[in-house]
Amino acid sequence: MNTFPRPAFRQRRPLLVIIAPHPDDDILGCGLLIDAARRAGWRLLVVALTDGQASHPNSARWPAAALGRLRRGEMRRGLARLGAGRVPLRFMGWRDGALAVDGSALRLRQLLHAVGATNVVAASPVDHHPDHRAAWQLARIATSARWCRLHAYEVWARSETPQRPHFAAGKAAKRWAMAAHRSQVTGYIADDPEGFVFAAPILRRLIESGETLRLGRTKVVRSRNTDPRSRSSRAACREPHPDRRAPALRRSP
Ligand SMILES: [Zn+2]
Repeated sequence: MNTFPRPAFRQRRPLLVIIAPHPDDDILGCGLLIDAARRAGWRLLVVALTDGQASHPNSARWPAAALGRLRRGEMRRGLARLGAGRVPLRFMGWRDGALAVDGSALRLRQLLHAVGATNVVAASPVDHHPDHRAAWQLARIATSARWCRLHAYEVWARSETPQRPHFAAGKAAKRWAMAAHRSQVTGYIADDPEGFVFAAPILRRLIESGETLRLGRTKVVRSRNTDPRSRSSRAACREPHPDRRAPALRRSP
């Protein structure tokens, strides 16, 4: 049975915000979660921090800007294939391969503030990719002054050390959704032999192993001033959150 985080507040249709360092992390790390959330009546917002435009750096046919546009389209198509219809998507357009924490945390915080985010999932800090670790730091700092539950999902770390998944249903839809990312799972970009393409066994393992969520923080800091443009709020964005506990997930009612 799927395990689902409790909404931070009693809401008729709570909002779940998924923070993806690259297009395809939303499906790889949260495809089953998105499917479960949709069925449970949650609203969804997916935030892509980068366009993944560094995956094929030597392609003449797909220079960075064109590759970024291609991958944005793949992301939209992948989410649509999950049956989620038109999931609201926000592209931050930050630099792939060099995701920085500095000023980006404030912009992410402003976005989360604007949509009233109370439940956020982000790539895990144990994932062995600098952009994934940076995404976690960004999410942690950006949610530090809000009433907000923050969960971590694993992509790469999970493929190395499989655990008992919280989400296991819906793998066929997830497989179909990942196939939409043809630049990453096929030889669609043929003029860059150094470019990234998933090896079939790894992709299979990432899909078949299900998904795990870890609660990164449930305690929430009250900010005296919750206006993201304020000085105290900007200071909160620069300060790392001290709470590193990871309590067990609770089963949804
Ligand atoms: Zn990624």
